[in-house]
Amino acid sequence: MKHELMKLPYAYNALEPYIDEATMKLHHDKHHQTYVDKLNVALEPYTGLQKLKVDELLKTLDKVPEAARTAVKNHGGGVYNHNFFWTIMKKDVKVAKEIGAAIDKEFGNFENFKKQFIDTALKLFGSGWTWLVLSNGKLEIINLPNQDSPISVGKIPLLTIDVWEHAYYKRYENRRAEYAEAFFHVINWEAVNKLYKDALKGKSFA
Ligand code: MN
Repeated sequence: MKHELMKLPYAYNALEPYIDEATMKLHHDKHHQTYVDKLNVALEPYTGLQKLKVDELLKTLDKVPEAARTAVKNHGGGVYNHNFFWTIMKKDVKVAKEIGAAIDKEFGNFENFKKQFIDTALKLFGSGWTWLVLSNGKLEIINLPNQDSPISVGKIPLLTIDVWEHAYYKRYENRRAEYAEAFFHVINWEAVNKLYKDALKGKSFA
């Protein structure tokens, strides 16, 4: 089985003006595609591993032969994280029930959560992703470097922002804070809510 590039669930311009069309095209068609291609190359010698879905590979990296492990972690992570990222974005969606209540409970209120999430994204040095995860039944905001994925470290992803420069530099240049602020206009809280309800049952995005 060859891994394929996930189709964007909306038009390239659907997240304008917060995330611009040119960035979406480059990000999806070039960057995401490259992760897919390189994952397929990394898996070429391993017919057994080719049968696994990308989330299965990332959850069992220790079972991937050492010669391919870093490539699978980087490019498999690149595939999974971007699939996840496209899925949790949509413009002008209100914070949904269960996840809204869980955020209030853990962070005091939504504004605190937003501030903490953005502050964490600003602290990430180099390339990586800031995540809201469910970890041992508790909401947590964490940074992971490169294309590392929460599912490789036993955490269930609920929300993420890509803070690689390729995700924002075209439009926001070095203004990561502005990008992170804009990102809050394009969170698909209905999708995040569904991920949260699945996470409570131990299920993660696949
Ligand atoms: Mn990216």
